[in-house]
Amino acid sequence: MNYQDIVNYDRQHVWHPCTQEKDHEALPPIPIERGEGVYLIDKAGRRYIDGVSSWWVNLFGHTHPRLNRALTEQAGRIAHHIFAGFTHEPAVDLARRLCALTPGNLSKVFFADNGSAAVEVALKMSFQYWQQHGKPNKTRFVSLTEAYHGETVGALSVGGCDLYRQVYQPMLLDTFQAQGPDCFRCPYGLHRDSCDAPCFEHLEKLVTESQEEIAAVIVEPLIQGAAGMRIYPPVYLRKLRVLCDTCQVHYIADEIAVGFGRTGKMFANEHAGVAPDLMCLSKGITGGYMPLSVTLATEDIYQAFYDDYETLKAFLHSHSYTGNVLACALAVEVLNIFKEEQVLANLAPKMALLDRYAARFEALPHVGEFRRCGMVAAVEMVADRRGRVPYPWQERRGYQVYQQALKQGALLRPLGNVVYFMPPLTIEEPVLEELLEIALKGIVEVTSEE
Ligand SMILES: *Cc1c(COP(=O)(O)O)cnc(C)c1O
Repeated sequence: MNYQDIVNYDRQHVWHPCTQEKDHEALPPIPIERGEGVYLIDKAGRRYIDGVSSWWVNLFGHTHPRLNRALTEQAGRIAHHIFAGFTHEPAVDLARRLCALTPGNLSKVFFADNGSAAVEVALKMSFQYWQQHGKPNKTRFVSLTEAYHGETVGALSVGGCDLYRQVYQPMLLDTFQAQGPDCFRCPYGLHRDSCDAPCFEHLEKLVTESQEEIAAVIVEPLIQGAAGMRIYPPVYLRKLRVLCDTCQVHYIADEIAVGFGRTGKMFANEHAGVAPDLMCLSKGITGGYMPLSVTLATEDIYQAFYDDYETLKAFLHSHSYTGNVLACALAVEVLNIFKEEQVLANLAPKMALLDRYAARFEALPHVGEFRRCGMVAAVEMVADRRGRVPYPWQERRGYQVYQQALKQGALLRPLGNVVYFMPPLTIEEPVLEELLEIALKGIVEVTSEE
């Protein structure tokens, strides 16, 4: 098929994620033929810097020689086999190493194949734990406003982004929602670098009052991604850990987006020095090669399910592709690369480069804030800077920047009025600089008509 054939057949038969398909009338989907490092290359040979790691999954660039080798070597042995009653070395190796790498005493790994499923697993594990642990009234979950934990029905129930959940509201679980941190528009007039997270009071009050009903609190540590890369300080997580201990509530850390080095440390909870009871990982876990997710649990949680068959305490959750061996082999190689190529140590100059651009972005009259956490940075555009007044969402300013950036050879997906950077960790500084320049230019063009 040539470029146009692909576009035409796509328009006839394909339904894309997170897309109003009618937008494709003006901007048809771009057929990608191959990838090379941080570049996506389309069927016409045009190159795009993958500034969002292809939806936050890619860590070391596309067609990475070591990952390609790990994949083909494993495919030469076997691609998939049943994981109930059978096991394999890549899963065991991965599980062992993840338990050692993650904070605290997480000692058991449950496999699934996407982030939403990992969240469903964590919710079900917590729920069933309390059923089997003498506290059957602890059935409800707490999440934060603007949270994002995936889009299957359970995961959506603990989400807080109206955009994704409003229409499905009648289908969703009855959950508690607490006002979360909003550092850019801090109601206390504080700054995230120096505050003590007084905004934690909302969550504290809710959990304290309803602890008898609550199974778990789920949060995205340090960065509420889909909310527009809202960044909040580690002290919030420290308070959360204390609260969960005091009230006998599980702390579920959804590190699906922030895990695997995105925040500058392997896992975001390390910034706070705390450990969750359940932890969800996916996205970067295979370097962006294959769908895979894991839910890690403490020994205490695992033991609540461990008994004679007749007690019917087992965790009866499964997916056809549970523990897929190709994905596990890739994930093992990802951990090898982290270790052998000093990936985290090499991030410092890139994070410094991102910081240097803060002043450039914030000098623009319609940029409200440039914020950064590790290798994630975001620019929030505002109609009026002094009042931090957002542009009306219907104007789709972020989407306009996305279109401008594409013309200049970069993929920068927007989140409302926010344009963010989440490049592969291995992006070279000159390319990162080019990406930032493209974003600057795009934002100037999209915000300077007044
Ligand atoms: C992407 C994401 C999910 C959902 O993962 P999927 O693989 O898209 O189902 C859940 N939580 C967070 C924080 C995410 O970023």
